[in-house]
Amino acid sequence: MVFTKITTGVAMKVKFWGTRGSIATPGQDTAIYGGNTTCVEVVCNEGQRVVIDAGSGLRLLGEYMRDAGEHTSLYLLITHIHWDHLLGFPFFSPIHDEKTEIMVDGYPTCIKGIRYAFDNQMGDGFSPISFEDLEAKITYLGVLKREILRIGDVMIDKVPLNHPQGGYGYRFEEEGKRFVFITDNELNLSGEGHGIPELYVRFCEGADILVHDAQYTPEEFSMRRGWGHSNFEDALELALKAGVKKLLLFHHDPTRTDKQLEAIEQRCKKIVKDRGSDVEVEAAREGQELVL
Ligand SMILES: [Zn+2]
Ligand SMILES: [Zn+2]
Repeated sequence: MVFTKITTGVAMKVKFWGTRGSIATPGQDTAIYGGNTTCVEVVCNEGQRVVIDAGSGLRLLGEYMRDAGEHTSLYLLITHIHWDHLLGFPFFSPIHDEKTEIMVDGYPTCIKGIRYAFDNQMGDGFSPISFEDLEAKITYLGVLKREILRIGDVMIDKVPLNHPQGGYGYRFEEEGKRFVFITDNELNLSGEGHGIPELYVRFCEGADILVHDAQYTPEEFSMRRGWGHSNFEDALELALKAGVKKLLLFHHDPTRTDKQLEAIEQRCKKIVKDRGSDVEVEAAREGQELVL
């Protein structure tokens, strides 16, 4: 497989194709932060493309790749198989091109979940085409459930999620840079203050960029315990404890408007100031690009 080195002097590039949680939310109230569900692209220094999750944002990435005539070999890491993280896969146009090669890895049920997005093998499929009829070469690697996944110079490690039916968060390391992506994760299970488990503090330690689930406000959180998501104060507390440089709030609640997300950013900035920290905090925006 041939990848072209596309950058020099930087490690990874990250682009958000979908930032919304639970269900896609098109409309004028979500135009700034975006309405598509989870899909994040990481392009490594040597040009390998790694896509995290196949939410509805994956369709846009497929259109981009087709228009750009880009080589369509990619890695697809699935965090878990809830619908909002899979439903873009049947609409990813490169799956109908025999030159496409998709190497799937992630949570152990990931390849089963992708197949189920087409047909559950019980004669009552969810898609007019079947998984077997796809032109692309789709293979399951199965590395991450055992060990670190190495792609060129990049090392990808995992952390288990506190989420119904489980899942994985990921840490990418390349040329001394760290990018951590953890969505669909409930940080505070103790009910005591900001009970951030040490496991996540260690996993995120020194990250240049942390993307973390922040679906709820602290006010909403008491009614949503056990649903597998965090509030923005706990996500920020994790970033502060782990010495992260930049935090991107992610998996925005479907009811959250752009105006409300701007207000959440302001509340976070105030906490950061009060704590005497210089961590940068933003709500992730669809289409946003970051360079590490
Ligand atoms: Zn989700
Ligand atoms: Zn989920």
